[in-house]
Amino acid sequence: MATQPEVGVSDFVLLDNLTTDKFIENLHLRFQHNKIYTYIGEVLVSVNPYKTLDIYNMQHMAQYRGREMFEVPPHVYAVADACQRVLRQQGRDTCVLISGESGSGKTEASKFIMKYIAANTTQLQREYIDRVKNVLIQSNSILETFGNAKTNRNDNSSRFGKYMDIHFDYKGDPVGGHISNYLLEKSRVVGLQPGERNFHAFYQLLSTNNAYTKKYGLASSAVYKILGSERATAQDSKLYSLTNSAFTALGFQQSVLDDIWSIVAGVILLGELDITETPEGEVEVRGSVSPCASALGVTVEQLRTAMGGRVLAAGGELVSKRHSLSDANYTRLALAKAAYDRLFTWIVAQINKAIEVPRDTYKNTLIGVLDIYGFEIFDTNSFEQFCINYCNEKLQQLFIELVLKQEQEEYAREGIQWTPVQYFNNRVICELVDAPHAGIIAIMDEAALNPTKISDKQLLEAMDKRLNGHKHYTSRQLSPTDKKLKHGVDFRITHYAGDVTYAITGFMDKNKDSLWQDLKRLLHSSSNRSLADMWPEGGDNIQKTSKRPPSAATLFRSSMAALVTGLQSKEPFYVRCIKPNPHQAPNTWDPTLVKHQVAYLGLVENVRVRRAGFACRVRYDRFLKRYKMLSQYTWPNFRAGTDRDAALVLARDLRLQDIHYGHTKLFIRSAKTLHSLEAARAEL
Ligand code: ATP
Ligand code: MG
Repeated sequence: MATQPEVGVSDFVLLDNLTTDKFIENLHLRFQHNKIYTYIGEVLVSVNPYKTLDIYNMQHMAQYRGREMFEVPPHVYAVADACQRVLRQQGRDTCVLISGESGSGKTEASKFIMKYIAANTTQLQREYIDRVKNVLIQSNSILETFGNAKTNRNDNSSRFGKYMDIHFDYKGDPVGGHISNYLLEKSRVVGLQPGERNFHAFYQLLSTNNAYTKKYGLASSAVYKILGSERATAQDSKLYSLTNSAFTALGFQQSVLDDIWSIVAGVILLGELDITETPEGEVEVRGSVSPCASALGVTVEQLRTAMGGRVLAAGGELVSKRHSLSDANYTRLALAKAAYDRLFTWIVAQINKAIEVPRDTYKNTLIGVLDIYGFEIFDTNSFEQFCINYCNEKLQQLFIELVLKQEQEEYAREGIQWTPVQYFNNRVICELVDAPHAGIIAIMDEAALNPTKISDKQLLEAMDKRLNGHKHYTSRQLSPTDKKLKHGVDFRITHYAGDVTYAITGFMDKNKDSLWQDLKRLLHSSSNRSLADMWPEGGDNIQKTSKRPPSAATLFRSSMAALVTGLQSKEPFYVRCIKPNPHQAPNTWDPTLVKHQVAYLGLVENVRVRRAGFACRVRYDRFLKRYKMLSQYTWPNFRAGTDRDAALVLARDLRLQDIHYGHTKLFIRSAKTLHSLEAARAEL
């Protein structure tokens, strides 16, 4: 490939006099020249360009195939290629951890990685591989339709966490995959912040006149309560057909598609039910009862009964209890949220059935790609943001531990001395949230188990009492003069990425996450076979004393712990995404915003650790491959010994200063030395 003129430095380890300002200057300079990627060693820093760059086509892919990272300009394809090479050459599982705040480009990066991996296959079994590739990529568009939404931060924001394993056969070709999904932000289904949209699926369904809109009397021009002031767009209509063809490509039958879109319609229509109270104090359900019942595959009577009251098993007796107006409305919204949430998880399970391969057909090697919801701060932050931000804390913790651990191990292994670099370790914040018996999750769970009903306010009091004095926790009660804590319900966590004020309202309920048995039975009895299949527990005997299921936060904590354990066993690669401005605008650089992200991602510290006094470390064979032409003793070949010997001769011949010879790698102390090598190479 033709050498392109360098803009700034393409690897931050090459910066002279490393400071945060210099770091940002380099990042900005490269951004202005559309060089959105820069390395810190093998970590890729990516800045969202918010415009289409012509750097992702097949020719670009070909440039990265089988090339070392330092040989070609920084690119997300280079990371994908490195992953695949580790897997093919060393038979090791790898993973790519993509992090950054909402709108920084994580999902786009994950898609580029998948595309690259899918394209990078051998010629054998072409047809089969093509099918697998297609399926892996198509699954993304379905997940985005059902799990993404427009927020005030990002028009296509992931509202769930996704970890996808891609399985490879012995030749290194992708043969299948598995997706794990984490906690969908289901509160969005029934509660939007101003300016935001519900999940794309709703608008896609309404964007065309189709069998479902006709059957359930829906119209694209109408206003629906759960969809806020937003309407379907032409883009939604385009995506609606793409979603459907993706479903078809994955082998979803038409009858299943009918089931899925009917549930989506049913959820919209649950929002339209009009519940009032008669003078006798009875709940009356009006509005869209008939189309809603039809879309959910239940009778009008069943739907009315479910809204009007519930049956409880108390001391072996069945007691029916009538709903108050507020209970009935609560039920209606709980049903909408639960139905959509299960639909999403069920779709992921069906996609997995389509893309999974039996374990004995692949060589047990895989690449995992993690793309989660980014750290976020809204005007009002609730339980969902609490979970999302905790998830980001866990990933930052993993980054710190792995990067540090790897570096330490490397120096020890190679027999090189080094001085640790100081940086902020966010372990203390993870523990504030998840420490057994002492963290916020434990306090919430204790409150949920209390025999008398605990209110959100009481929960906050309990948290204040237990967490008083914690450096990363405060609340309105604990800091009454703090202007940012405006309301009695506010508490604040000082996250690694900034202060977030949460409103405790809804925490108890969302954490308990229980759905009345009547509603489960209702959905299980649906004539919509997929819907019935999603709610197997609705078939349980009502008097069966079932153990209380774990709370939402505890489930989330366990799934995060399992995720982290899984990731730790793999060779990790990192993509650190940066958002250049809050307006989703191209060519716009907000220095304060960027500086903040560079700081909390610990990027400058990352460079320091990476250098730890060494600008560069490189395996002997790679060092020779790149620089052996600079000495007559090593060019075209060195005949007198090992690669280490050759490197020694080469370094002496070039009078390189301060080189350390590890067991398998050569360490160059100063960036200047590296520059001089590069300059000498460029002059040839
Ligand atoms: P969230 O945490 O909210 O899910 P995210 O980090 O996944 O955010 P993306 O959805 O990947 O963010 O990116 C937001 C938008 O930025 C994309 O929809 C796209 O318009 C633009 N974008 C991101 N990366 C690129 C890129 N490499 N080239 C062009 N546009 C990009
Ligand atoms: Mg995303």
